[in-house]
Amino acid sequence: MDYKLWIDGKWADGKGGKRMDIINPAKGETIASVLDASSADVDLAVKAAHTAFYDGRWSKLTPAARSNALLKLATLVEQKSDDLARMESLNTGKPFEFVSKGADMPFIIDNIRFFAAAARDVHGSHAGEFAPGFTSIFRREPVGVVGQIAPWNYPLMMAIWKMCPALAAGCTVVLKPAPSTPLTALMLAEMTKQAGIPDGVINVLSGGNATGQALVEHPDVRMISLTGSTATGKAIMKSAADTLKRVHLELGGKAPILVFDDADISVVAQKVTLASTFNTGQDCTAATRVYTQAKHFDKVKEALTEAMKAVKVGDPFDSDVTVGPLISAAQRDRVVGFVDRAKKQGATILTGGNVPKGMDGGFYYSPTVIVDVKQSDEIIQSEVFGPVITVQNFKSEEEAIALGNDVQYGLAASVFTRDVGRAMRVSAALEFGTVWINDHIPLASETPHGGFKQSGFGKDLSAEAMGDYQISKHVMISNS
Ligand code: NAD
Repeated sequence: MDYKLWIDGKWADGKGGKRMDIINPAKGETIASVLDASSADVDLAVKAAHTAFYDGRWSKLTPAARSNALLKLATLVEQKSDDLARMESLNTGKPFEFVSKGADMPFIIDNIRFFAAAARDVHGSHAGEFAPGFTSIFRREPVGVVGQIAPWNYPLMMAIWKMCPALAAGCTVVLKPAPSTPLTALMLAEMTKQAGIPDGVINVLSGGNATGQALVEHPDVRMISLTGSTATGKAIMKSAADTLKRVHLELGGKAPILVFDDADISVVAQKVTLASTFNTGQDCTAATRVYTQAKHFDKVKEALTEAMKAVKVGDPFDSDVTVGPLISAAQRDRVVGFVDRAKKQGATILTGGNVPKGMDGGFYYSPTVIVDVKQSDEIIQSEVFGPVITVQNFKSEEEAIALGNDVQYGLAASVFTRDVGRAMRVSAALEFGTVWINDHIPLASETPHGGFKQSGFGKDLSAEAMGDYQISKHVMISNS
C-alpha cells in the first residue's frame, strides 16, 4: 500500500519527496511504501500547526473539551486495537500477542486516557500579592508548535507518549516517526480527525533524518521532543541552539542489574530474561549489565543461561513466540558486530551469540549471555539494543554502585535484594531516572520516565510530561 503525508487534517501527496519502502523484518519483504517528506512538506505541516495554534482552535479550548477529544481518541484506538497491533507486528516484528494483549496496546490506550485526565488537572495557576500594591498571577501556557521525532522500537507507543501530553497542554504537533516504522502513526493521524481533534493540530510526516533536521531548524517550531539515540540527541541540541528551541530528549540506556547475595535467584533469572529479551532487547530500559555478588556468581550465571536458552524466538504471529526479529538487517548486523568484537576481546558466550539456524529470512538473533568481560569493554559501555546480557561480579555494596554508575547513560537500573535498608541506600546512589527493586521493566502512565546524564532530560509519561509542554507566564497587576 502507498501512504501519503498527514497535513492539516488530510492526506497530502508531498512536494518533491521520494518514496521509501517499508520492510517486514520477520521476512525481509516490502509491505508498504511511504513518502520521505521534503523540507517543503515540513514547511506546510508547520504552517498548518502554526495556524491551528494561533487561531486558538485547540489551545483556547477548555481543558474539558481537549480532554473529551482525547477520551474519544482512546475509544477509537481501543476499537481499532487489533488492526493497529497487526500493522505494528508486521512493521516491527514484535509478537502479535505481545502488542495486542501484552505490552503495547493496553498501555497505549491507558496512556491516552491518563493524558485526557491530566489535561483537566492544571497546576501552577495560582495568584497572590508578592510586591506591595500588586497582584501576581502565574499561568501555565502551551509552548506552541512542537516538533516530535520518534524511534522505531515502539512506533505507536512513542507517538502516543509524545503527542498526548503535548495535546493535553494545548500545543499543536508535527510528528515525524522513524523512517522504517511510520505506518501505525499514520493510521493514528487519521483517527485524531475522527476523534474531533481539529485540522492542523496533528500533522504526521513520514521521512528520514533530513525531514527531522528540517523540523529542528524550522523557526516556527518552539520545541523539539526526540526519543532516539544519544548521538542524535546531541546533534539536535546543537541545531536547536540556532533558533534557541526547547529540547526534550529521551535517549539511550545501558541498564545495570545489581544482584545481592540475599536475592531470590529464580526471580532474578525470570525477571532479567524477560527484561533483556522484551521487544528483542530493543528497549532503552532493557536489562543489559548484570552484576552479581561474588558468592552467587556461578548460580546466577547458570540460572540466567538456562532461562535465556528457553526463550522462544520466531514468527511474530506464532502465539508461542515471545521474541521476534530485530528491526532490520542493519540492526542485526550491529548486534552481531558487538558480540563478535566482545569475543575478540576475550569474552565467553554462554548461550546465543548467533543467528538461529534456519531463520536467516528475517533479522533474528538468539538471546545471548556473555561473561569474562571487563568494565571498560565496548560491550559494557555501549548500547547494543539486542537480546544480549553480560554477567560480572562484585564484592561490596560500594563496588556494585560504582560499577552500575560507570557508564555515560542514566536511564534505568534495578536492584535485587531482600534487605530494605540496602534497597533504599542503593536506589538513592544510582544515577538513573528509574530504579526498580526486585523487578525490571514495568512502567505505568503515572510514572515519570526519562534520563539522567547522557540519557537526556525531560520526562515522558506522568503529569511531568504534560508540564514539559507548558511554559510559565507571570502577569502582574497594579492595584492602584
Ligand atoms: P535514532 O537516533 O537513529 O533516530 C531517532 C529519530 O531521530 C528517527 O526518527 C530519525 O529519523 C531521527 N533523526 C536522526 N538524526 C536526526 C537529525 N540529525 N535531526 C533530526 N532528526 C534525526 O534512533 P533509533 O535508532 O530510531 O532508536 C533507537 C534509539 O532510541 C536507542 O538509542 C534507544 O535507546 C533510544 N530510545 C530511547 C527511549 C527513551 O525513552 N529514553 C525510548 C526508546 C528508544
